[in-house]
Amino acid sequence: MSTLASLTAHELAGRYRRGEATPTAAVTDYLARIDALDPQVRAFLTVTREEALRAAAEADARFRAGTPRGPLDGVPIALKDVLCTRGIRSTCGSKILDRFVPPYDATVVARLFAAGAILLGKLNMDEFAMGSSTEHSAYFTTRNPWDLARVPGGSSGGASAAVAADMAALTLGTDTGGSIRQPAAFSGVLGMKPTYGRVSRYGLIAFASSLDQIGPFAKDALDAALMLQAIAGVDPMDSTSVDVPVPDYAASLREGIDGLRLGVPAEYFIDGMDPEVEQAVRTAIGALEKLGARTEPVSLPHTEYGLAAYYVIAPAEASSNLARYDGVKYGLRVPGARDVIDMYSKTRAAGFGTEVKRRVMLGTYALSAGYYDAYYGQALKVRTLVRRDFQQAFERVDLIVAPTTPGVAFKMGEKEDPIQMYLNDIFTIPVNLAGLPGLSIPGGFTQTGLPIGLQLIGRAFDEALLLRAAYAYQQVTTWHSRKPPLA
Ligand code: GLN
Repeated sequence: MSTLASLTAHELAGRYRRGEATPTAAVTDYLARIDALDPQVRAFLTVTREEALRAAAEADARFRAGTPRGPLDGVPIALKDVLCTRGIRSTCGSKILDRFVPPYDATVVARLFAAGAILLGKLNMDEFAMGSSTEHSAYFTTRNPWDLARVPGGSSGGASAAVAADMAALTLGTDTGGSIRQPAAFSGVLGMKPTYGRVSRYGLIAFASSLDQIGPFAKDALDAALMLQAIAGVDPMDSTSVDVPVPDYAASLREGIDGLRLGVPAEYFIDGMDPEVEQAVRTAIGALEKLGARTEPVSLPHTEYGLAAYYVIAPAEASSNLARYDGVKYGLRVPGARDVIDMYSKTRAAGFGTEVKRRVMLGTYALSAGYYDAYYGQALKVRTLVRRDFQQAFERVDLIVAPTTPGVAFKMGEKEDPIQMYLNDIFTIPVNLAGLPGLSIPGGFTQTGLPIGLQLIGRAFDEALLLRAAYAYQQVTTWHSRKPPLA
């Protein structure tokens, strides 16, 4: 139905430059598509219609004057609702922030606005980014555009579904244990988690601060490169952002992968994984070999302990980060309390959902006196071992290739047991523990038409190589240009 909304961001930018389309036409097209499809998909928590049309008119004027700002000028984007947007409600998928309107923009948001990108709205997510399906959103569940009975993945499920359904050209999500790569795999789009410290977290509502990173969802590798270019780089407002040079990602995409050494970790092909996923990933490895890459087996022996360590470390940090929601500083306050303690507990009881409460309790317990060394201290030691596994592998190979997830998108309500939900992230979590960059690209489809994710993992700050390999793969495959069968 739509034409402009089906294009990649770089194709759209080409039309603007040649005067064949305007940002207003693109935004109008996208808004019509959101009106038509989002009642089914439910990716958006907020649509910023007036703001988008106003920004589009300004972008039109820049193109008319011959002074566009760069490759993202006039490109319609949307953002996971974990990112603070000045004057625009930012819920983090939670009732406790239902009416929170931030007084400032996250650094990534400010940088995208400075590049001329146009915000279409804010996207659904699991509450406080805790989950793998968006079923933990306090508002509603987003549906997978490839099969509306299935989840799009999570926690950034709104951000992956919006790109998959052509309801935004590019989106931003966050990845603490897999929340960009897993929904990218389930939704059939590219999702990239940058190296810890590559992108500023200022204005990102914190879940687990030592693991959280912001990254793009895109229709192809060039679009992802343009989005990362706009948001990457040191920020004085985030002391964990790292001052290393940001290369020109788009410029090196076409260098190919001839002679690249690719590691295939035995621990990422496990009993019980979906045979169609394994088959697709092995076929994709064959395609990378044809492009000149040499593969060799590598071992990441501590992989199996990563999940357990993560489910101590992430809840521990979350229990501390979420202490700020006390009915005083932000968002919800339940009235009619007897005293301040009563107000605090009533507000948190009403404002937080079940999964968030579970994590706060787990984290508080793991950090409590007498248990700290047994749980949190041990988990940190495991984290070091996981990081060392990768360091040793990267002495021999340049990139690691693996499945993103052991299975494909599951049905809504299928994983009610929290442990079953947690198991989705066994192949993504180690990357966060080690602070490395990783991306997921469409690497095939099941017989029934569900997307399969191919994961690439790189050395710290080597996003350029990840994007280059993804680009090379996308030159010889067409998975990324398939569209979901939405009316
Ligand atoms: N699914 C994982 C969790 O629930 C990861 C979430 C994330 O990366 N934000 O914690």
